[in-house]
Amino acid sequence: MAENNFKPLVVWLILNGKTEDALELLAKTYRVNVPTLKVGLPKKHKIKAYGCYIAKNKTISVQNSDVLINPFVILHEFYHHLRSKGVDKMHRGTEGNADKFALDFLMHYQLSSKKTQDYIS
Ligand SMILES: [Zn+2]
Repeated sequence: MAENNFKPLVVWLILNGKTEDALELLAKTYRVNVPTLKVGLPKKHKIKAYGCYIAKNKTISVQNSDVLINPFVILHEFYHHLRSKGVDKMHRGTEGNADKFALDFLMHYQLSSKKTQDYIS
């Protein structure tokens, strides 16, 4: 798949409730295992987090089903999944990079949907 289409497609899939398909596509592209996706945060994470990633069981947990279709949160947590397979099991210090990773996808999505709009109008 062309790199140009990959990022907008991932965002589109998440926005359309196909988050598991998006994670499969991401995992395939980055050659990692597909993370488990769960609605409901572990108790200790209750404090205002939309999502979290638990490296121990490779699980992305989201606060509720609304967050399931939030590409920023899903991609942010997927970044932690990507990183967790390295030596550095703790993902401390990579929050900024996780945000950048997610924003990059959103930017490509916006660019491509803008192109589509230009084409339609
Ligand atoms: Zn994070």
